[in-house]
Amino acid sequence: PADRVVAGMFDIVERLYGIRVVQRTGPPVWHPDVKVYEVIDRDGVRLGSFYADWFPRETKRGGAWMDAFITGEPIPNSGAICGNLTPPLGTLPALLTHREVETIFHEFGHLLHHTLSRVGVKSLAGTNVAWDFVELPSQIMENWCWERDALDLFARHWETQSAIPEDLFLKMRRARNFRSANTQMRQLGFAITDLLLHTEYSPERDGDVVDYSRALLQRFSSAPLPPDHASICSFTHLFGSPVGYGAGYYSYKWAEVLEADAFTRFRKEGIFSPAVGGEFRDKILSQGDSRDPAELYRDFMGRDPDPDALLIRSGLLTNPVENEAVVV
Ligand SMILES: [Zn+2]
Repeated sequence: PADRVVAGMFDIVERLYGIRVVQRTGPPVWHPDVKVYEVIDRDGVRLGSFYADWFPRETKRGGAWMDAFITGEPIPNSGAICGNLTPPLGTLPALLTHREVETIFHEFGHLLHHTLSRVGVKSLAGTNVAWDFVELPSQIMENWCWERDALDLFARHWETQSAIPEDLFLKMRRARNFRSANTQMRQLGFAITDLLLHTEYSPERDGDVVDYSRALLQRFSSAPLPPDHASICSFTHLFGSPVGYGAGYYSYKWAEVLEADAFTRFRKEGIFSPAVGGEFRDKILSQGDSRDPAELYRDFMGRDPDPDALLIRSGLLTNPVENEAVVV
């Protein structure tokens, strides 16, 4: 049930970051579905407030997103997290799919990046960071949706309260990596094509752009592409737009590299560890764009990102340290 998921998520961030998230009923809202929360630090300081608007409506935009309303210090932050999740139906509460649970965690990760920011310059605060860094705080949150101990806090049958059966949990883990090599190659193909079209491609030298792109994508495809293969023609991410694409497609994969690697610290030192959580909060979440993201990352991990963590999580590499054969 959605309410239970949200409560479990707040419990997790309280353990990790020492913050309490408390619902408030006083402030006005734009729809009865919308809830208002305050984020309060361990010393009682009010860090900010946010609206959560999770269910679809006739006039509502599709998808899921986080918005910043008020940014920066010293005033508390304000923002919103929104989605179009499975709504309550008759006497049934809102019963979410696993992917929808990940969506809630993801958007809340962006909101924490915004709310826990301690950067005085608004344009450098919170989520105003490099395109290929902004999904680290959000995507890392999804990892808690795949950990038994975290799931058991909130992923329970809405009538019997029983936890997810172990065999079902293992099936979910296996399904997560179904064809992950194909997915990865596809993403890498798009990312490389996007980068090379913006940085290397020359019509005089390289000829037709569709042929050029097909040859690039062929390197990432396990089967021969047909001669009229022209998927590049519908690859709208190539172009700069108000939401900022244009040589930026690689950032999806790069964010996965960062969050899979950063999460290994939580896995090693405890997924509810306040020590690791405190460091993640101080060194990443609170820093906005006040320093080079590579520096922030090194500050937290003590080294550069290691792409192996993502390969291990995707079942494409065995963990040499723990010899942990990831479920395949
Ligand atoms: Zn995101």
